[in-house]
Amino acid sequence: AKDDHIGVAVASTVTDLDDGRRRLATLEELRAGLDRGELILHYQPQLNLTADAVTGVEALVRWNHPERGLVYPDVFLPLAERAGLMGRLTSQVLEMAIEQCRAWRADGLKLAVAVNLSASNLQDTALPGYVADVLSRHGVPSAALHLEVTEEILMRDAARATDVLAELRAMGVRLAVDDYGTGYSSLAYLHALPVDDLKLDRAFVAHCDTDPRSAAIVKSTVELAHNLGMRMIAEGVENGAALELLRQWDCDLVQGYHLSRPQPPDRLAAWLRQRQP
Ligand code: C2E
Ligand code: CA
Ligand code: CA
Ligand code: CA
Repeated sequence: AKDDHIGVAVASTVTDLDDGRRRLATLEELRAGLDRGELILHYQPQLNLTADAVTGVEALVRWNHPERGLVYPDVFLPLAERAGLMGRLTSQVLEMAIEQCRAWRADGLKLAVAVNLSASNLQDTALPGYVADVLSRHGVPSAALHLEVTEEILMRDAARATDVLAELRAMGVRLAVDDYGTGYSSLAYLHALPVDDLKLDRAFVAHCDTDPRSAAIVKSTVELAHNLGMRMIAEGVENGAALELLRQWDCDLVQGYHLSRPQPPDRLAAWLRQRQP
């Protein structure tokens, strides 16, 4: 009954009735999709510029829908969050990502895997225990798991998020601020929160080779990160010129289409072997 209520609320926010019906159907389908294990992960490599090697990947969820094909997260994550399905979704993502991490390690590929958390995950005091359980079941060290939390989420409810994040970090999990620079960047939470990496939003990175203002923001964010003892990750690196500049500016890690699009795990492993024989 609770879910039906949420469905009605979702429908009332869209003006086009057909669109509303489609979204309602999608919510039911999403629930079924979660039950049937239709979520899959693609992985995008992160190049460590200091080591000059790919040392990690970001796990990005996709819904392998039986009729619609591959559905991207922008379509179903807001729905999952509104319908209270994000706990289940994140559990499945963590399970798949850490199992994949274990398989790669067994194959000699020592990659860290980064998983995205949503707003409701940070209100869930059972999350750190769940993470510890998945890691130990698969025998993956906690340092191999990185968790990304958007700046917007951190700013919305930093006080409640702090306990969950502090507990995760105490376990040895690495934490990153995602989409940095898009959330009216308050420096207060950077000061208060236990985070390891700053991930500058691609809006600033994408044009850093042509736009002087973007370049200034990237350079000063690298400095800010380093002065706070954090690493700087640039996402949305789309060409070689941007990559070279980021190297010069002492950025720690880069991620983007220039290096590789997100891809299924077997293709990523083949890509890595070809790159680093
Ligand atoms: P994000 O965490 O900022 O992830 C980066 C997004 O940028 C990904 O989109 C990725 O495919 C895309 N991207 C990577 N390199 C480039 C580039 O060079 N240029 C451009 N223009 N885009 C690039 P994707 O996979 O569609 O994911 C969208 C968002 O959905 C993610 O943004 C993240 O916020 C969310 N998301 C994805 N997977 C999960 C998940 O498992 N859990 C949660 N809570 N959120 C997720
Ligand atoms: Ca992310
Ligand atoms: Ca991001
Ligand atoms: Ca984003």
